[in-house]
Amino acid sequence: MTHVITSLCLRDGGCKDVCPVECIVPGKPESEWPWYYIDPDTCIDCGACVAECPFEAIFPQDDVPSALKAKEGQRLSRPEGTAVYDGTDHYKKPVHLAHTVILKAGQTADLHPDIEGNAKFFKTGPGYSAK
Ligand code: SF4
Ligand code: SF4
Repeated sequence: MTHVITSLCLRDGGCKDVCPVECIVPGKPESEWPWYYIDPDTCIDCGACVAECPFEAIFPQDDVPSALKAKEGQRLSRPEGTAVYDGTDHYKKPVHLAHTVILKAGQTADLHPDIEGNAKFFKTGPGYSAK
C-alpha cells in the first residue's frame, strides 16, 4: 500500500521534511499539479507525515474517504475551483493557490479521484510535468 496526499493539501510543505524516505514531492508546475504527492513505490507507510499535516490531507490509500464530511470553510485544491487561497506555509512563506473549492459544513466530498491523481503524477516521468 501507500499513503496518499489528497486535494485537501494546501501546500503547507511540513510533511516533506518528516518523511524518512524522502518520497514526498511538491507538484510542479503548480497550475497542473496543485498539491504535494507521495511516491507509492517508495513510501513505507510509517505514518509520520499524517500528524504533520495541518489540513488532515494525508491518508493510507485504503482509508481515503469517498464521502468526506467537510468542516465549514475546508478547502480542496482542485483545478476547477474558483476560490483563491492566500496563506502561509510551514516556513511562514506565502502560499497562493488560484484554484480552490471552499466547502460548507456537512458537505460531502469524494477524495477517491485524488488517488489516481497521485499515481498519475509519478507516471509522467522526469520533471513531474503533466506534459
Ligand atoms: S503537510 Fe499537508 S498541506 Fe502540507 S504539503 Fe503536506 S499534505 Fe500538503
Ligand atoms: S507514510 Fe511515511 S514513508 Fe510514506 S510518505 Fe508518509 S512519512 Fe513518508
